[in-house]
Amino acid sequence: MSLAIVNIGISHDGNGATLSGDAVVCADGAIAWIGPSSQVRRGEHATVIDAAGATVIPGLIDSHFHSTFGDFTPRQNAVGYLESYLHGGMTRAISASEVHVPGRPIDRVGVKALAVAAAKCFEHYRPHGVTVHAGSVILEPDLTAEDFADLRRDGVWMAKAGFGRFASPMDYVPVVRAARSQGIHVMCHTGGGSISGSQSKIGAEALLAMQPNVAGHVNGGPTALTPEENERIVVEGTEIALQLVQAGNLKSALHLCELALRHDQFHRILLASDTPTGSGLISLGLLRSMAELASLGPLTPEQTITAATGAVSRIYDLKAGLLAIGWPADIIVIDAPLGSAAHNAYDALRIGDIPAVAVAITQGTVRFERSRNTPPPQKDIKTLRPRDERRAGEHDAPDASAPAHHCC
Ligand SMILES: [Zn+2]
Repeated sequence: MSLAIVNIGISHDGNGATLSGDAVVCADGAIAWIGPSSQVRRGEHATVIDAAGATVIPGLIDSHFHSTFGDFTPRQNAVGYLESYLHGGMTRAISASEVHVPGRPIDRVGVKALAVAAAKCFEHYRPHGVTVHAGSVILEPDLTAEDFADLRRDGVWMAKAGFGRFASPMDYVPVVRAARSQGIHVMCHTGGGSISGSQSKIGAEALLAMQPNVAGHVNGGPTALTPEENERIVVEGTEIALQLVQAGNLKSALHLCELALRHDQFHRILLASDTPTGSGLISLGLLRSMAELASLGPLTPEQTITAATGAVSRIYDLKAGLLAIGWPADIIVIDAPLGSAAHNAYDALRIGDIPAVAVAITQGTVRFERSRNTPPPQKDIKTLRPRDERRAGEHDAPDASAPAHHCC
């Protein structure tokens, strides 16, 4: 099944560059061609989206969400939240551990089993087309390098520091080191405790000693560090990614953006929702953060998109988040929302309006043609199905359903 998007206005490839044309063709779940709309033979595609000058960007990646099993969160007793997040432009989500599973185990065997089960349950299960990277082992003091090697063999490649039975944050240091020595990607809780019973504050000193891959919710989850600690993390923790979350402290996020730009560390910033949590479900969480950081903060709209797409895939080493030939066809069409003073998606972000998500595509399949969670777009974006229309007019020729000729 092939799909073409034509008449793209502004585009963003996930790394901040524009596409080399105003049309994209997807086939077999991947991006097959990028070029001018004039070269697209519309009748040959199962679906053609006329973007009418709207903006095309990669699907957003939430680098901090809390999966359990299925499309269900016990934290807010809600089902179908991943589908709802897709309507906020999120096409891929990365678990920050399955800490919300009721009765979650805390012993060595149990934490390993939970991570393996979560990873395997989402290996082929894509709720409503959303790709979920689940199975982040919750670090406990008795986990060893051998345990991490077992986990890698069993398909687990992520760990979360911050909920274990450690007497002090500094006690995480050898366990994080052991995990990383086996190629496990470690995210560390940053800031004050998130819920009753969770770890006491993890500050700059402990974070810099731990050297995780990602400082999870570095703007607080939800309680932030001091401005002085923010500066230390930006200046001294140059190997640690800076994850800014919607369910954190906005003032601290704005400060961290300023620091990152001042010290030429923008490449370390990634956006995330850190939901579902006590802060609730925030279906538009990533778009909200993008609008906040581009309107109140120093980031450009382009930078906010990079931080929610290409930067995440680079930091997590995922083949995702970029509009490039051969990469997964996870794409969203966005625009200024109806009624906004802005007239394109970037200007909407600049003035703090949340863009409309007009179309979401995952694995090359259109998942919806109007978000149910954002206002409608200003532009008249249309989805056409030329081959269906052609077949409808060919009642006398039942063999018209020839194999698709995938080209542009
Ligand atoms: Zn979290």
